[in-house]
Amino acid sequence: MSMLGREQLLLMERGVKALEKLAEDPVIQIEGGPPVCPHCNTLNPQVSVHENDGEGPLALFLLDPKCENCGKTFYAVPLEWAIFEAREEAEQEINQRAEVFSGGTANGRQT
Ligand SMILES: [Zn+2]
Repeated sequence: MSMLGREQLLLMERGVKALEKLAEDPVIQIEGGPPVCPHCNTLNPQVSVHENDGEGPLALFLLDPKCENCGKTFYAVPLEWAIFEAREEAEQEINQRAEVFSGGTANGRQT
């Protein structure tokens, strides 16, 4: 008596194929990282983004900030979005991030 029936084997096979397909997807393979300048390795550098009137789909958004530390431009592609309907909610999220990057003394995270 086999441990797995024919039907279960087929289901497993389908699952493996789905996982393989996911692994092949270049979008899935890209991993996010910390906000670091690739030229001078400054963590969370001060940057300036020149105003441009580009338009296009949100999912294909490309940032080209200039690092104020080394003066070089790099390119950033958001992997995920935190989307808010109200500006106040977005500002709340930004403020939370600002606390994290200011040394983590807020939110009782002090070590
Ligand atoms: Zn830099």
